[in-house]
Amino acid sequence: TRFSVGLTGGIGSGKTTVAELFAGLGAAVIDTDQIAHQLTAAGGAAIEPIRQAFGADFITPDGAMDRARMREAVFSDPASKKKLEAILHPLIRSETERAAAETQGAYPLFVVPLLVESGTWKQRVSRVLVVDCDEEVQLQRVMQRNALSEVQVRAIMATQVPRATRLAQADDVIVNDGDPAALTVEVERLHAAYVALAQADER
Ligand code: ATP
Repeated sequence: TRFSVGLTGGIGSGKTTVAELFAGLGAAVIDTDQIAHQLTAAGGAAIEPIRQAFGADFITPDGAMDRARMREAVFSDPASKKKLEAILHPLIRSETERAAAETQGAYPLFVVPLLVESGTWKQRVSRVLVVDCDEEVQLQRVMQRNALSEVQVRAIMATQVPRATRLAQADDVIVNDGDPAALTVEVERLHAAYVALAQADER
C-alpha cells in the first residue's frame, strides 16, 4: 500500500500545529477530528444513524448532532459511548480513505488523536509519528487555550493512554516543548525523510 503517516499525541500536545507545518511543506493532511465533525454536522452521514440509535432528542432543530447532550450521554454511560463509536468509526474510516484517495500531496498524513487507543489505525499507516510534550507544558497550554481548570484538564488527560504507552508505539517523535522555530526544523527533517520513503514506495 501507498506510504502514509499517522500523526498522534495527547490533548494539546501540538498535533494541529505540527500538521499545519507538514501541510505547508506539501504533505496531504487528513484530519480525522475534522471528518468526525463534518459527519455529525447538519446533513452529515452520521445524523440519521444517530437519530435511529439515540432518538430525535439528540438532534438539534437545525439537524446537527446535539454535541452537549451527546457529550453528557457518553460521559455518564459506557454503553452509549460504544454505540456512538460503532456508528462513527466505520464512517470516519471510509471518509478518511475517500479523502486519501483524492489527495494530491506528496503522501497522506492522517491526524488521529486516539491512534494508540483505537487499535487498528497503527496497521493502516506506514509510520506512527507522535507529537510529544512535557505533561506540565501540555497542561498549561490546554488550560490557557480552553479556559479550563487544572482538574478539568487532568481529567481529560486521564482518559487518554499514558505518555509512555504512546511513545512506545512511535516510529518517529517530535518533541514540542520548545519554541515554534525548533519545531519547524524538526518537521522539515521528517518531511524530507517521508518524501524519500514515499518515492521509494512508488518505485
Ligand atoms: P487537541 O488535542 O486539543 O486537538 P493539538 O494536539 O492539536 O490539540 P494544538 O492545538 O496544535 O494541539 O496546540 C495546543 C495549544 O498549544 C495551541 O493553543 C497552540 O497554539 C499551542 N502551541 C502548540 N505548540 C506550541 C509551541 N511550540 N509553543 C507555544 N505554544 C504552542
